[in-house]
Amino acid sequence: SRRHMSSVDAGAAMEKIRAAGLLRTRGLIGGKWVDAYDGKTLEVQNPATGEILANVACMGNKETSDAIASAHTTFYSWSKLTASERSKTLRKWHDLLIAHKEELALLMTLEQGKPMKEALGEVNYGASFIEYFAEEAKRVYGDIIPPTLADRRLLVLKQPIGVVGAITPWNFPLAMITRKVGPALASGCTVVVKPSEFTPLTALAAADLALQAGIPAGALNVVMGNAPEIGDALMQSTQVRKITFTGSTAVGKKLMAGSANTVKKVSLELGGNAPCIVFDDADIEVAVKGSLAAKFRNSGQTCVCANRILVQEGIYEKFASAFVKAVQSLEVGNGLEESTSQGPLINEAAVQKVEKFVDDATSKGANVILGGKRHSLGMTFYEPTVVGNVSKDMLLFREEVFGPVAPLIPFKTEEEAIHLANDTNAGLAAYMFTTSIPRSWRVSEALEYGLVGVNEGLISTEVAPFGGVKQSGLGREGSKYGMDDFLEIKYVCMGNLS
Ligand code: NAD
Repeated sequence: SRRHMSSVDAGAAMEKIRAAGLLRTRGLIGGKWVDAYDGKTLEVQNPATGEILANVACMGNKETSDAIASAHTTFYSWSKLTASERSKTLRKWHDLLIAHKEELALLMTLEQGKPMKEALGEVNYGASFIEYFAEEAKRVYGDIIPPTLADRRLLVLKQPIGVVGAITPWNFPLAMITRKVGPALASGCTVVVKPSEFTPLTALAAADLALQAGIPAGALNVVMGNAPEIGDALMQSTQVRKITFTGSTAVGKKLMAGSANTVKKVSLELGGNAPCIVFDDADIEVAVKGSLAAKFRNSGQTCVCANRILVQEGIYEKFASAFVKAVQSLEVGNGLEESTSQGPLINEAAVQKVEKFVDDATSKGANVILGGKRHSLGMTFYEPTVVGNVSKDMLLFREEVFGPVAPLIPFKTEEEAIHLANDTNAGLAAYMFTTSIPRSWRVSEALEYGLVGVNEGLISTEVAPFGGVKQSGLGREGSKYGMDDFLEIKYVCMGNLS
């Protein structure tokens, strides 16, 4: 059977990863691979098959405290290197990530489920942050301010803030780490990373390559296991000067509240509920291609997912039928198989959430146009789904479904589309499809979102700022703006110079 074939492939893939020395299962503290102090482990599962891939160290408070101490000690040496020295090391790390692209991608597909093509893409994307910030490291400098008194000189220095705690999700097991660790290390900060318990293997492999590249022991630590305990240890520590988090809005709020006690900087990349507005003047082919990619990439498990496809009345039928045809072409399966364009969801709970959202919509009058149930592969697989006539009172409108379900929502006017688009507490990504230049400009300005894609569904890149407004987060990652969050500004007044 298909399932059986996949598990054979998985064995060969694991062998390849092991042979490259990249199957790491212990945490990384002060440059040493360590077990949980009480010997506890947790299982990492392949979401496509349910097979146990590995048992990794299940860590908590004590290990995190030691990781923080090590990062704190290392901060004094790492931050004193020249920017070009740090840059060279980061560049080596980038090169090693690329050299091990295949093993890293296989690991991601095995523990997260995404199709190999997407996993390979994520290695490129993830590595691009290390390369970008290796360069950006050399462009961090302050200012000289014209003084108000003639015998003074006023300087502004930019300095790394110190130890950073980075907590990351499972949907992009590599890129969500490098997008934080790249600028942190480049600026001279040291880091304690806590990857998701679902996807620690990619994180550990990437950390192994960082060590090989010459990132000093203690500059990059990895602990995983008991998330609330690790989170608490990071929040309570006075040595940790910043928490950078990507994940759910609920956990983000906890971390923000918990950081108040020690007045840490906090950056948050939280949930989205992206509108994707298809105006009646859109190029249908462009709109279908863009919304398909924005919605179904990673089985709909992205924060910038086209979560609510708003379609203007005049082209609703035409768009719906072209879109459904495109969605029908998606091939569901194990991500290791070359033909697969939609892998499993991360676990069965995620599928149950999708089922709940679709039931809620149909019970309130929406119609399933395509799919709408578990895939015959079972367990974690859900059919690519399109639901028509979704309205504001449905979960599919109000919350992130985080699965392969595209809700179509009809609208009449531009004004109504903007109102519907902004009618949410989320404000991460938004998309629109239109051939009108004035409209694209007008609507871009009116959308209360951190990112806007016009006639394009895949817009993230290391050179542009990524982040949300409202309850989608604080701060920006990537680009020159992504560096600022890791820097403190210091004012130095030099007096009596005459
Ligand atoms: P999650 O919040 O459950 O988990 C994220 C991380 O937080 C994991 O490492 C988890 O172990 C950890 N965590 C959980 N409870 C914690 C606690 N009490 N203290 C400290 N850490 C804790 O989110 P998830 O399910 O892994 O990811 C999905 C969510 O992430 C979605 O809402 C998605 O939109 C969002 N996301 C946002 C972005 C973005 O850039 N805005 C990117 C990817 C994912």
